Amino acid sequence: MRGQAMKITGKTKITGILGDPIGHTLSPAMQNAAFMHMGLDWVYAPFHVKPDSLKKAIEGIRALNLAGVNVTVPHKSAVLKYLDEIDGLAKEIGAVNTVVNKNGKLVGENTDIHGYIQSLTEDAGFVVKNRKIIILGAGGAARAIIYGLLWGGVLKPRSVVVANRTQGRAEDLVREFKRRFKNRADVMSATGFDAVGAHMRDADLLVNATPLGMEGQRPLEIDLRPLPANALVSDVVYKPLETGLLKRAKRRGLRTHSGLGMLVHQGAMAFKSWTGLDAPIEIMKRAALEALRKK
Ligand code: NAP
Repeated sequence: MRGQAMKITGKTKITGILGDPIGHTLSPAMQNAAFMHMGLDWVYAPFHVKPDSLKKAIEGIRALNLAGVNVTVPHKSAVLKYLDEIDGLAKEIGAVNTVVNKNGKLVGENTDIHGYIQSLTEDAGFVVKNRKIIILGAGGAARAIIYGLLWGGVLKPRSVVVANRTQGRAEDLVREFKRRFKNRADVMSATGFDAVGAHMRDADLLVNATPLGMEGQRPLEIDLRPLPANALVSDVVYKPLETGLLKRAKRRGLRTHSGLGMLVHQGAMAFKSWTGLDAPIEIMKRAALEALRKK
């Protein structure tokens, strides 16, 4: 099938993504390009599933014998109760973005967590050990990134500052991590958006984990001047590929890291969980970029 048009037969294995809304997703372009490139008789489709239909949609995975699915907003937490087994990391964070159908047994995983870290370390070449990291946002994306930084105690950041518009939510998140990770989360602290400048002076990485800067959203207006010249600025937003934040960071001579890498790496890990094969990351990245340009 390499390089040819996709052909669906009675033997084709079917995967897809459940979300609401779903029209914006780049995952079908990315996963179908990977299946085609690897010569696999697999296909990936978008499924618009409203919250009150999630249970039936999950039952449908078994009934229709789908090979697996991705799960996106707003279902990542709600889906847990409908699955047969949740892997350790996904259970701990309480969010699943990948479901694997193992002979009728539905197993939930979370590939967002390592997806971000893999992209940060491999695409941007960032070394976490002993670094100070500022995360803007305290929602699902921020949680996944912090889990990735602290999980297993391997990466050992020097300090993780969580800054959120609603400061109480950042404080709750830090408290939760301190309770769960005990000695590993003693590096964490919380602040409001207004006080983030003071933390920037000795920061090595600033991550936007809010939707600010996304197409149709307000820009993230934050003064990057206090950041040291060797700092990296990372955005989870990938539409546009180069957000206003990343543009301003570049103009200041700082290194930048776009949200597309997280998307591609979480997809690559899901591909491996379904097929058992290493994903063709460059092909997936190219397909996602192309789909993004066409949107
Ligand atoms: P979420 O759980 O709803 O959390 C949103 C966070 O952004 C909260 O901390 C919220 O602050 C903050 N926020 C929202 N609007 C804001 C505003 N106008 N001003 C200041 N702060 C604001 O969302 P999420 O799941 O974390 O997603 C966040 C972003 O990450 C989305 O754009 C999503 O598309 C992106 N994402 C990208 C990838 C990827 O693969 N690249 C993966 C996952 C998510 P409050 O607590 O004050 O409301």
